[in-house]
Amino acid sequence: MLKVARASLHKWEEPIISGTSGSGTVFFSGCNLKCVYCQNYEVSRGKGKAITANELADVFKRLEDLGAHNVNLVTPTHFADDIIKACDIYRPSIPIAYNCGGYENPKTLERLKDVVDIFIPDFKYSDNSLAKKYSNCPNYFEICTKAIVKMRQLCPADIVEGGIMKKGLIIRHLVLPNALDNTKGVIDWLANNMSKDTYFSLMGQYVPYGEANKFPKINRKLKPLEYKIAVNHALKQGLENTFIQSLESATEEFIPDFDDKSLIY
Ligand code: SF4
Repeated sequence: MLKVARASLHKWEEPIISGTSGSGTVFFSGCNLKCVYCQNYEVSRGKGKAITANELADVFKRLEDLGAHNVNLVTPTHFADDIIKACDIYRPSIPIAYNCGGYENPKTLERLKDVVDIFIPDFKYSDNSLAKKYSNCPNYFEICTKAIVKMRQLCPADIVEGGIMKKGLIIRHLVLPNALDNTKGVIDWLANNMSKDTYFSLMGQYVPYGEANKFPKINRKLKPLEYKIAVNHALKQGLENTFIQSLESATEEFIPDFDDKSLIY
């Protein structure tokens, strides 16, 4: 059953996604991964309201009317069919972004090719032992890298106009505490397999959340030195379009409030 936890204008995405007016985020309930540290823990475990494809199409329209630069589908993978249906009912004139965990089936991506303008996959792990431990996903690296290659094939060129992305690919990586080799592996794969001007968002905003308190190594925020080492590695590898965060964003205030009454859904 199609379920949505929140839809609103969101200003804390990468600048080419949020722009000045905000990104029209739609947070879907549930997730095909179950990361123990999920920053949207309750939502990835199912919190949200049932909605029809017609109502979802209406949400797209309202976000567009509010001036969103894009419709940003967050954790959409398990609702791909409903999303395609909603876009058949109403196709907004603003770009549609597919903001996912990176564990994607290339056949599903192929079906989305006429719907999605911008892919924003996570690339969480180069180290499958961490993928197994924290996301119960022992083949994450192989699946994610194939999915990223497919997304690049579906969106071969990045188009940014007036500082806002219209089409393209942004790859995200959340640096985890005590896991710099994992981060370096992600960066190295990107440097060796993608063009050096690929948009890469190196996120330092990790806060222990969800079940992170059961895993001592990730039960703290990132140290500034850890993030600096990660950033330096990306620069050393020549990833020239890397978004870097201020570690001040590593607070729970930046986790969306799913009970906020001002939401449009
Ligand atoms: S992929 Fe993202 S939304 Fe899904 S459980 Fe992991 S961190 Fe949460």
